[in-house]
Amino acid sequence: MRLSRYFLPVLKETPSEAQIVSHRLMLRAGLIKQASAGIYSWLPLGYKVLKKIEDIVHQEQAKAGHLPMLMPTIQSADLWRESGRYDAYGAEMLRITDRHERDMLFTPTAEELITDIFRAHVTSYKDLPLTMYQIQWKFRDEIRPRFGVMRGREFYMKDGYNFDLTKEDALHAYNRHLVSYLRTYERMGLQAIPMRADSGPIGGDDTHEFLVLAETGESEVFYDSEITDLRFGDRAIDYDDRAQCQSVLEEFTSRYARTDETHDAAVFAQIPVERQRVARGIEVGQIFYFGTKYSEAMGALVDDGQGGRVPVHMGSHGIGVSRLVGAIIEASHDDNGIIWPEGVTPFHVGIVNLKQGDASCDAACNDLYKAFVSNGLEPLYDDRTERAGAKFATMDLIGLPWRITVGPRGLAGDTVELTCRRTGESEELSLAAVVARVVEIYAPHMGA
Ligand code: ATP
Ligand code: MG
Repeated sequence: MRLSRYFLPVLKETPSEAQIVSHRLMLRAGLIKQASAGIYSWLPLGYKVLKKIEDIVHQEQAKAGHLPMLMPTIQSADLWRESGRYDAYGAEMLRITDRHERDMLFTPTAEELITDIFRAHVTSYKDLPLTMYQIQWKFRDEIRPRFGVMRGREFYMKDGYNFDLTKEDALHAYNRHLVSYLRTYERMGLQAIPMRADSGPIGGDDTHEFLVLAETGESEVFYDSEITDLRFGDRAIDYDDRAQCQSVLEEFTSRYARTDETHDAAVFAQIPVERQRVARGIEVGQIFYFGTKYSEAMGALVDDGQGGRVPVHMGSHGIGVSRLVGAIIEASHDDNGIIWPEGVTPFHVGIVNLKQGDASCDAACNDLYKAFVSNGLEPLYDDRTERAGAKFATMDLIGLPWRITVGPRGLAGDTVELTCRRTGESEELSLAAVVARVVEIYAPHMGA
């Protein structure tokens, strides 16, 4: 992409309405624009990041064997009356009346609709296990929308639902989700710690929230510092292997890590004092096992192969896709702007032409541009006739992890400069070497 043809409405002034750094940077870097309270338009650069995050979620769900689908945002109130949640959900549910005076609602989550699909089509244990998910807009009429996309009213969420014959099968689905979520967040450059949590209006006993540690997080968290040393990394996993999934769960959940809702001061006090941590975190996902709560209420039964009909065991699982954009920025920025992790960056590399209109600089930039495209990478070429300082400031603000600076002095010696956004370190490389270097950096992040 050439910057001269892009839509990048960066702001010079710090927007006064934004209280936290990710919200400020998302507005300043032209990622989003508020449409009304807690509701945002995603401008081209922000939309690109949102899609990258969505892609990673899809890829990791596919590896775990979960099936993508899509359900409507507007649902009939009838199903929600069956489960009892139409009244229970309260003011957070946006209720709508259509022209025939029928009660509708904008979906805050979709347990009822998926259970209705399930009961219409699945009658036998032979069709289990089954896990389906969607990535779809949700609406919750939050009393205090704030912090930009972190606590919006409209937000983009992955929600998945598992259906299993037995509790053991459903707990395997729970473990599978825990593993796939660990991998998902790590690919986004995040450490998200599973913490024992409270189930809220979804219901159920077993639940973990995934939290990214950040001073601006809305949740107070308590944990054993040893937990921050854990990484899933690139180890192989067989999602059908119950023992393996269970052992990952044990590895990542056996140390103390809880949100304030489930915090137990007496248990916490038994951790060696130097390892006790009280901090704040951003909830980027949650997994639940809730047994037969919805299947019993809504009659989602299967024959069990032994002459009986039994309600299926279920769980649901959510990832805050749009919140993640803010969470990643909270975890990765400096005074000059965003620092995108390679896995989610909107463009892989920025090309800054120091002397636009100079034949050799223009030619070198064009050659680099073509070389990256032919290697499957997306460069952002700043081809505007701006001062170098302004070009650097824009690149720093929008946070591409790698920048190539092309100028007459370097080209005289056949080199350009490659700069790492995170460390600020630069190296001089030939055109061919800089392409090879950037391609190598991104190799682990390409494809699924
Ligand atoms: P919270 O406690 O933050 O209100 P929740 O526990 O009600 O969230 P879930 O039902 O678990 O949310 O939804 C799954 C994920 O969707 C959450 O982990 C979070 O990342 C995201 N999410 C929930 N509410 C919002 C919101 N208002 N704006 C943006 N993302 C949200
Ligand atoms: Mg939650």
